[in-house]
Amino acid sequence: MSPALETLHRIFGYSSFRGPQAEIIDHLIAGGDALVLMPTGGGKSLCYQIPALLRTGTAVVVSPLIALMQNQVDALLQAGVRAAYLNSSLDYTTASATEQRLLRGELDLIYVAPERLLTDRFLSLLDHLDTQGQLALFAIDEAHCVSQWGHDFRPEYIQLSALHQRYPNIPRIALTATADALTRQEIITRLGLDSARIFISSFDRPNIRYLVVERDNPRQQLLEFLANHQNEAGIVYCLSRKKVDETAAWLGTQGFTALPYHAGLDAATRQKNQQQFLRDEPVVMVATIAFGMGIDKPDVRFVAHLDLPKSLEAYYQETGRAGRDGEPAEAWMAYGLNDVVIHRQRIDESVAGEEQKRVERGKLDALLAWCETTDCRRVFLLNYFSEAAAPCNNCDTCLNPPEIWDGTEAARKALSAALRTGQRFGAGHLIDVLRGKTTDKVQQFGHQELPTFGVGADLDDHGWRAVFRQLLATGLLHADAQAYGALQLTESARPLLRGECTLSLRRAAARTRKKFPQGRT
Ligand code: ADP
Ligand code: ZN
Repeated sequence: MSPALETLHRIFGYSSFRGPQAEIIDHLIAGGDALVLMPTGGGKSLCYQIPALLRTGTAVVVSPLIALMQNQVDALLQAGVRAAYLNSSLDYTTASATEQRLLRGELDLIYVAPERLLTDRFLSLLDHLDTQGQLALFAIDEAHCVSQWGHDFRPEYIQLSALHQRYPNIPRIALTATADALTRQEIITRLGLDSARIFISSFDRPNIRYLVVERDNPRQQLLEFLANHQNEAGIVYCLSRKKVDETAAWLGTQGFTALPYHAGLDAATRQKNQQQFLRDEPVVMVATIAFGMGIDKPDVRFVAHLDLPKSLEAYYQETGRAGRDGEPAEAWMAYGLNDVVIHRQRIDESVAGEEQKRVERGKLDALLAWCETTDCRRVFLLNYFSEAAAPCNNCDTCLNPPEIWDGTEAARKALSAALRTGQRFGAGHLIDVLRGKTTDKVQQFGHQELPTFGVGADLDDHGWRAVFRQLLATGLLHADAQAYGALQLTESARPLLRGECTLSLRRAAARTRKKFPQGRT
């Protein structure tokens, strides 16, 4: 039996390695560098913990979150491994004592926050270990934090390239659950991992069912979704702190144990709510994205998004917190016209440079295309992570294929309504014009006189919103941030208006919730 396998049995109590673990561990023990792309729950920790035990000296693990470090160190101590952490939560005496243990060679692993690692004080400790040949390896966890365009950027991570320059002979392993090609390349460049071997695991989470609904009555829709998740633990993500507080309070009145979590709550409350979520079974955590990284609760049965996340990477990361135990779980999202407008405006108005805006627009487009897709959502998601897949039969588009219709005429009507009203209005007013409603606003602007007035009586509000949403998502319409989100035509709308092309649209789903078969399929 190999020493790695023996360690797996004896220390961690597992019978065999999972996926590429064995290969990664052998590679590291032999002194190679590695970049590991593995989904959440895939088993990244063992990839450096076992080499840490089998190589001479202490392994240094860089980790961005205090809670994450504590969990890992607690688990290692229970397994009898000599591990400790250094971060800002420790008082001076405890920190010094840990440093002394490190210098005496009494630790197999030391977890450290990046800003701490890069202090002169800590680097001189490492220099000392290095000259004694007592540095086993560097592990850089959550390596996507180095990516400026990612969702968890931490400036200190960029400085971590110093490790390679200072200790060129110590093997390094960078790990992340974010795997789009751009982030991957940034990790390699910024951390100097050009000669590292790359290990990519499948990112599929087959037990997670993906569901997207068109938002029209979000609270009611959420309740209908939660009806299948009574007495289960889950997370409901909202964009704003205010919405988190309101949603948590409202769920409380609906018979759920719901707790809020966002950066505006004091540390004690956050800690208390997080503990209750980790400990108790049926808690619904209503949270901003401040919640989740490093939360290791295996039986989260659902993740619901009431607002559109920032990108597909963020979405994958957030929904990946469901079903880590491998049992069926659901990722549900309510998505609407406003999401598209708000996110486009957020990017337009941000102070970021043009290149970053371009990247962010690309990421948003991919996410919107995913929302509107009529193909298997899993296939789309995995393709986005450069992975091939077959239709899954465990997402809404597979289980309930959306109807496609020829939306050319409707799209032309919608575009000409925007054009004829001077491209100064949002979807609400344009829909009133199309449907021939003589509202105050319509009369104020004399829009009842337009040739477009009333030409869209064949669709209801809901149907028109779906048309406008898809026109925005596909970029034929643009919401102008400077003009309160007024809808304007883009260049790509011209061929359609001139009748040079056609447009297939996804039919707005019926208001009532479709029933899905329960459990694994
Ligand atoms: P990640 O960091 O990739 O999200 P973890 O390292 O936290 O994942 O591992 C997820 C879970 O899988 C943990 O409970 C871990 O103990 C377990 N695990 C990891 N490797 C194995 C293995 N080879 N056999 C059984 N369980 C494993
Ligand atoms: Zn599918």
